[in-house]
Amino acid sequence: MKTATATKTGARTKYAWRELDRVEPPKRPVPDRLSDFHEVSRPYDEATASQQASRCVQCPHPNCVAACPLEIPIPDLLALTADGQFHDAAELLFNTQSLPEFIAHICVEKRMCEAACVLTKASEPVPIGAISRFLLDYGWTHGVKEPPPATATGQRVAVIGSGLCGLMGADALSRQGYAVTIIDSAKAPGGRLVNGLAGFKVDRAVIKRRVQSLRERGVEFRMGVVFGRDVTTGALRRSHDAVLFALGRTEAVPLEIPGAELRGVCQAYPFILHHTSDARFHALPVNVEGRQVVVLGGGDTAMDALRIALRAGAGDALCIYRGDEAAMPADPKEIENAAEEGAQFVFRSQPAAILGNANGEVTGVRCARTQLGAPDAAGRQGVRAQPGTEFDIPAEVVLVAYGFAPPRLPPCDDVAGLAVGQNGCLVVDAAQMTSVPGVFAAGSIARWPVSMIEVMRDARKAAAGIDRYLSALRKV
Ligand code: SF4
Repeated sequence: MKTATATKTGARTKYAWRELDRVEPPKRPVPDRLSDFHEVSRPYDEATASQQASRCVQCPHPNCVAACPLEIPIPDLLALTADGQFHDAAELLFNTQSLPEFIAHICVEKRMCEAACVLTKASEPVPIGAISRFLLDYGWTHGVKEPPPATATGQRVAVIGSGLCGLMGADALSRQGYAVTIIDSAKAPGGRLVNGLAGFKVDRAVIKRRVQSLRERGVEFRMGVVFGRDVTTGALRRSHDAVLFALGRTEAVPLEIPGAELRGVCQAYPFILHHTSDARFHALPVNVEGRQVVVLGGGDTAMDALRIALRAGAGDALCIYRGDEAAMPADPKEIENAAEEGAQFVFRSQPAAILGNANGEVTGVRCARTQLGAPDAAGRQGVRAQPGTEFDIPAEVVLVAYGFAPPRLPPCDDVAGLAVGQNGCLVVDAAQMTSVPGVFAAGSIARWPVSMIEVMRDARKAAAGIDRYLSALRKV
């Protein structure tokens, strides 16, 4: 068994990876985790971060960067970290990336840069995600400064939506000297990361800290403002030089199989909200205490639903997914965390019907085994049910986590001129500009389906597109 040496910084040699095993960040004990909704992993200490970074061989043509949609300077960050130059490394991260919180906490690195790392062929990849998380925390606790914003351009940009996409766009634009106003119907900025999801991936305090720093930079937040009711595109276009649509997803994809109407079959997202948000609900929360809970789907919402069901006292929490584990859209870290906490998984199976009793209550899920096919346009593996392979799984509660439909624009004539594609998304060009000049869109309103990393990349592209559009106007 290879062990990490106890030096403060990693000895940067070409073959350090042969001497040092990959070390995962420490995790909180499961009983502790099951009593709250907070993050599971803790950051590395300085010695471990440095040693792990020293495993990088500094490839001349790094696969990790090629696989990163955000073009993060990964080898440079790792070299500085390996040499113990944590301040410089954190500064590089803060200076080259909008909202490093999202990169450090939300990126699915095991499917992106780490999957592409050249070391996967001979050993295990450099833990790039955990090192980014270390640098983020180091930067905040040691007062690493972000670069000051550019000189004010005198131009104003309205951003509709304060979630991942809106905050990314606002951060990039405010750094470039634009006066940014964010509009959102929610009371608190941060989208689902603050107003909905549990803090398993990122504690809400981390997002709130970023919102506060955006406020200090001059970004204005107009919360509780409903787009389409309180404000329209036309009004925003008149009062701002550009508009960015960054609306998030709200409508869940329904379950459309026999028995979907039975009592005990519910959408997973409202179930999550009942446990994690301060919002008031008309309906009572679904009681899962001591019950057999089945979750349908394989994304992060499904993982959150499993883990919250276990925290709410479910007897069992079992996930049914049509593909195999590698094809699940959820972050592999979240799948692992759910399994550690007691969630069970049935792979390569899909529900054919929900079973019920004479009282109209759910009693089980009839499934069929699936056969894997070619991936679809979005890279998701195609599957088809195999006849004659049906089997039943007992269930008292079924939580549906099939994702969300693209957000719909409110029916007001201001937005009628925006071209909408067949999938319901706004049509955008390479700079994320819609069919209306000066109106841009990114995130799930412009791409569907969309991953979080694509949201971040498109928000950054939109900010660059807005900058080019407004720079050209300044020269006229
Ligand atoms: Fe380092 Fe891996 Fe990137 Fe190569 S691919 S530069 S070893 S992190």
